[in-house]
Amino acid sequence: MELEAHLLGTSSARPANGREVSGSIVIVGKYQIAIDAGEGFQTRLKKQAQVLKNAKWETRISHTRLDAIALTHGHLDHCWGVLPMLLSMGLDCKKNPLSVLAPLHHDAYIALVKDGMDAKMPDSVPTVDLINQMRFWWAHLFNKISPEDMFPIFWYTVSWIDGEEKWLQLDPQNGTVSQLSTPPKPIGPHSLTPHQTTHSVPSCGWRITSADHLGKFNAKRSAELGLSHNQISKLANGEDITYVATSATTSSATTGVISVANEILLASDFRGPSTSGVSILITGDTGADAPELLALAKAAPLNLLIHESTYSDSYQTNAINYLHSTSRDAAKVATKIAAENLVLTHYSSRFVKTEIPLTEAREDHPRVHAGEDGDIFQIERDGSLKIFRISDGSPSQIFEPF
Ligand SMILES: [Zn+2]
Repeated sequence: MELEAHLLGTSSARPANGREVSGSIVIVGKYQIAIDAGEGFQTRLKKQAQVLKNAKWETRISHTRLDAIALTHGHLDHCWGVLPMLLSMGLDCKKNPLSVLAPLHHDAYIALVKDGMDAKMPDSVPTVDLINQMRFWWAHLFNKISPEDMFPIFWYTVSWIDGEEKWLQLDPQNGTVSQLSTPPKPIGPHSLTPHQTTHSVPSCGWRITSADHLGKFNAKRSAELGLSHNQISKLANGEDITYVATSATTSSATTGVISVANEILLASDFRGPSTSGVSILITGDTGADAPELLALAKAAPLNLLIHESTYSDSYQTNAINYLHSTSRDAAKVATKIAAENLVLTHYSSRFVKTEIPLTEAREDHPRVHAGEDGDIFQIERDGSLKIFRISDGSPSQIFEPF
């Protein structure tokens, strides 16, 4: 398994019909990332962790193991669970650092750059903007847990100004705002990248791509050349080396003469072709025409798109008015960006069952799955997808999901 996602809430706006609000966990390599954390997220995470433990599942999840929380926007069904989970992390002695990544209104970005951490937010910045929520979290967090007991948290924000991605790192304890010239890299060699979406407040989806795999190292050739351990190690790590080639000639006139020649050995000649990582994108809330999402068509291939699907065709007007998507909108986006698989989530409380959204989406994309709380998605290195559903407290593979 190269990448695994746990969908821990598929309802929109409020818990309904046995579904909880937004929040997912993605596992890539040794890293665990939460994408959104609505109301009650830590409870859902613990419940899923217990299911995995009981099932002797290959991977284990825990709030104390999270490396990043990436938020899609400031509406409470996507982030009300962050503060209590942060407090629990502190109480449960989390050790490894956590990065919190949040999209901010562009005027919040400008105010922070100009006036620093205490900047007054202009009226254009919505009350639910994540800068206001983070300030609320900081006040509670640093009041409740003493600094020496606190695990390291890095606070990153992203805003778009004239389409350009702008990153800040905020340090609430030192009161500093730093502009970043390159995006943060909170999950080691893997990438976690925002894609701006269209909603009533600043919003984005998050794409997680596992690191490329190096091609196979040609050990046979290095042995034939009689290279030292040190030389092999350099080549294996991508470093070109100078190789002293020696050869003894055997013709009668020159018997015993050894010719010496320096040769540059290129590390790239000792590796087979590398293979690309696999990729998942989780949207958060979005209207149907998010230009940044559509621009993905030009980016790397996407194995799995988890897209909001608040409405069905009958409620198209609501989707347009409230900047949400119908399941057909989600399928059209998946087709336009050539996503191999689509999972629907974020259903309106109107949908007790998902047949209608699923049927409508399948008219526009061949591989659509209607997500439910607890569903697990595993993407293998070759891009193939396995889907598991929790039934009777344990995960069972769905063998014909499409
Ligand atoms: Zn929502």
